[in-house]
Amino acid sequence: MGLRSAKTIGSVESGGTQRQPAELDASRLTITPNPNPKKLPPHDSPELQTPKVTTDHRLTVRWTEESGWDAPKIEPYGPLSLMPTASVLHYATECYEGLKAYRGYDGRVRLFRPERNDQRFLRSAARISLPAFSPGEFLKLLKAFVGLETGKWLAAPGRFIYIRPTLIGTAPTLGVNRPQEALMYILLIMWPPLHVPNPADQLSAGKSTYGMKLLASQQDMIRAWPGGIGYAKVGANYGPTFVAHSEARKSGYDQVLWLFGEECFVTEAGGTNMFVVFKSKQPGRKELVTPPLIDGTILEGVTRASVLDVAKGEYGHVYDVIERKLTMFELIEAHQDGRLLEAFGTGTAYFVTSCSEIQFREHKIMVPVPNTSDSVAREIRQKLEDIMYGNVNHAWGVEVDENTV
Ligand SMILES: *Cc1c(COP(=O)(O)O)cnc(C)c1O
Repeated sequence: MGLRSAKTIGSVESGGTQRQPAELDASRLTITPNPNPKKLPPHDSPELQTPKVTTDHRLTVRWTEESGWDAPKIEPYGPLSLMPTASVLHYATECYEGLKAYRGYDGRVRLFRPERNDQRFLRSAARISLPAFSPGEFLKLLKAFVGLETGKWLAAPGRFIYIRPTLIGTAPTLGVNRPQEALMYILLIMWPPLHVPNPADQLSAGKSTYGMKLLASQQDMIRAWPGGIGYAKVGANYGPTFVAHSEARKSGYDQVLWLFGEECFVTEAGGTNMFVVFKSKQPGRKELVTPPLIDGTILEGVTRASVLDVAKGEYGHVYDVIERKLTMFELIEAHQDGRLLEAFGTGTAYFVTSCSEIQFREHKIMVPVPNTSDSVAREIRQKLEDIMYGNVNHAWGVEVDENTV
């Protein structure tokens, strides 16, 4: 809130006549119902195989440097209008968030630790000089919007819908400058029923090996570097990875495992943070290891934080939870010594997904995917799912009040 006090002082100094830019204020929200609501596609509709079916409305809030945040509006879903000179189209002044709303088995709709998305949204915005906002107000807007759509769009217990808050620089000038106008918007989108079956469950069900197959990045392609923007959820981190991603897909891999430096440090895989489980040198113990957030190359996932919290809180007696750097050479060695027990990726989109294979240069590491009872990924995944779908009452599951237009 440093911004707010700086502005207050500024206007006092200039004689107090200047209007202060308005703060983001959820109480000013207006709602225009969609007169032509869409038909809900059936659950097995081919249309739902890619994320493109949005709900009936969108929420937008305009910002200008002069007047601050406008009154937020929920309106029928439709295109945005931007000038061809808009900052975002030339200088990638865009950041976003990704979270889900879950329909619990008790019928209630919940968000999962949304205050973390709220805080991260602010951090990302700051990194690309988009405006700050009062985080509590953003969360109120998010809940109001979700609660308006879920009655129709998220009716079935055990399902979720994806939420994409976005902030873009809209100032219509080609000046290479911090944008003086911006637009925040939120949309809801049906996510393909890629509630990826847990590999451990599939194995137990007699299926052959299943799990994320990762192709390690080449030295000439780097996702993020110290001093860069890897820690921020900005669009500019993604577009440039699509070349490597589509090549990996063509060769039968699911994601690129992004490495950094000559040491080949493991960073992240696509939109997921990475975890590895080692057999500890201490007999009978395991180590759960994930790369640390120290140099700004890794996005701080809400799922990552939750896996760490659950692991430390509930499994501390079985394994050591360690944030430290991890190299590919260490993985290879651990695999050769039979100490690599498991690896998995975590993120909102793919949740907690076991990894079955990592291809690195000439090495193919076949990562064990343990069966149900031994799988750290599966155990933690179950704990988190119980919170998301309201099987247990937990402060991380934030209920949403539902209204209809
Ligand atoms: C969004 C994202 C993640 C996962 O974060 P969650 O908050 O767990 O969804 C991981 N890595 C990158 C690069 C991301 O953009």
